Amino acid sequence: MRSSSRPRVLITGGAGFLGSHLCERLLADGHDVLCVDNFFTGSRDNVLHLLGNPRFELLRHDVTFPLYVEVDQIYNLACPASPIHYQLDPVQTTKTSVHGAINMLGLAKRVNASILQASTSEVYGDPEVHPQQEGYWGRVNPVGPRACYDEGKRCAETLFFDYFRQHGLRIKVARIFNTYGPRMHPNDGRVVSNFIVQALRGAPITLYGDGQQTRSFCYVDDLIEGLIRLMNTPDEITGPVNLGNPVEFTIRELAEQVLAQTRSQSPLLQEPLPQDDPRQRQPDIDLARQLLGWEPAVPLADGLERTIDYFRRHGDVA
Ligand code: NAD
Ligand code: UDP
Ligand code: UDP
Repeated sequence: MRSSSRPRVLITGGAGFLGSHLCERLLADGHDVLCVDNFFTGSRDNVLHLLGNPRFELLRHDVTFPLYVEVDQIYNLACPASPIHYQLDPVQTTKTSVHGAINMLGLAKRVNASILQASTSEVYGDPEVHPQQEGYWGRVNPVGPRACYDEGKRCAETLFFDYFRQHGLRIKVARIFNTYGPRMHPNDGRVVSNFIVQALRGAPITLYGDGQQTRSFCYVDDLIEGLIRLMNTPDEITGPVNLGNPVEFTIRELAEQVLAQTRSQSPLLQEPLPQDDPRQRQPDIDLARQLLGWEPAVPLADGLERTIDYFRRHGDVA
């Protein structure tokens, strides 16, 4: 018998960058939060400030193994997200996406919980359509170095929709586009953290290729708001729904913006473009606007300011 009527929320990958912000926000909203993480890329430090909260619980666990807990909602975020981390042990990356999804879906089925999958713009691969709409099936190399992540996430989406069709589960699939903010891992290799850390250290800014490839950067608070709105939509809304900021920048523009905001003298250093690096990426967020009444509110300059401030204090870089 439950002792409380507060929703109990499980967040897998809850000690990671996005997960820790989600834990914080759901606790502030009055939920009980169970954070599950194997600390592969996340850390206890990211949720240290939450450990004193009696409504927060932290469990070290790998989602590729079954998990038996009683919860009302599941946010499935467990998976390394940066190319250098997900390529370190690609077999484990696929297992995390696929076995992790099966276990969390099995759990959702047993306890009748709603379950949200943190999918990714990577399901679109190196896209031929621009901006990317949810109806686009994508262009992914199934045997390249990014495939463990891209195909793992695609298979997880398939599993979500099959559990929905076959077992009537309440599912929500969010396709998250590049998101940045405080608590990104300083060494995780993603472009925003790399450029800020390099600029603060006065080290060269590593521009892969000519820097003309584009990305659209969403500040973490905006993204978390979108995830929560999606989770709380009526049962018939399953997604996939794109969540991201539609304002697109070239990577060179991002480098220049970071240099200007950190007042850094770091030079730009051109390095080879990694294999299968998508040329262009911009979310079409009409569906999110329509279904969730959501759109990002934080412009890049403001989000960068907050992130730079975080790395000045925590990145051991200035
Ligand atoms: P992150 O690496 O900071 O967080 C991932 C978390 O999952 C980490 O805490 C890690 O330790 C944990 N984890 C990894 N494998 C696990 C396993 N087998 N069992 C339990 N925990 C495990 O990355 P993030 O940016 O916070 O990403 C969170 C989720 O959002 C990921 O699923 C990612 O694919 C998705 N996503 C993120 C972005 C982005 O731009 N940040 C974009 C698209 C999708
Ligand atoms: N599972 C879990 N927690 C639960 C229920 C199931 O981790 O509370 C796992 C279990 O290991 C199983 C998987 O989820 O392998 C899929 O469960 P499902 O009931 O869909 O399939 P089955 O048990 O028939 O394999
Ligand atoms: N990138 C870069 N320098 C870096 C890190 C990344 O030029 O130090 C580029 C990378 O080649 C890609 C873009 O920035 O075109 C975004 O890379 P990230 O790894 O952050 O995300 P993803 O490629 O998964 O969108």
